[in-house]
Amino acid sequence: MDDCIFCKIIRGEIPSTKIYEDGDAFAFLDIAPVNVGHTLVVPKQHFKNVYETPDEVLQKVMTAAKKIAEALKALPSDGVNVTINNDSAAGQVVFHFHVHVIPRIAGDGFPLWHSRRPYNEGEAKGTAEKIMRGL
Ligand code: AMP
Ligand code: ZN
Repeated sequence: MDDCIFCKIIRGEIPSTKIYEDGDAFAFLDIAPVNVGHTLVVPKQHFKNVYETPDEVLQKVMTAAKKIAEALKALPSDGVNVTINNDSAAGQVVFHFHVHVIPRIAGDGFPLWHSRRPYNEGEAKGTAEKIMRGL
């Protein structure tokens, strides 16, 4: 896509620190890392989000993300988050599907969940039924 920043990175029109590339996937360091080594893995073809990315492309991108998660063990890290933001409400800013692979350091303080609460009586069952209708 002409005006997509990640498409431009893949085409080499704007600079990035490339980590990995194969026929389907491209990975580069996030410009503003949560921790050093924070990597973005993207399909070479432009898809907006997880919903629009074909299953076979998702598989390829996730396989590349796993490879990178393992390689990040070369850096100081105690764990790794593999996350995908979809739509603005979920924090998606760049609308070219991408997987964040983020090395975590024990005690780094990165807040994964803002707040949580238990389900109310009957709420889990009703929620599960609604989700399952969409499967
Ligand atoms: P998201 O909020 O899931 O859409 O994540 C977009 C990510 O892209 C953010 O973590 C940004 O720091 C990162 N980002 C934006 N522009 C660039 C760029 N030119 N090079 C590398 N990472 C970028
Ligand atoms: Zn794109």
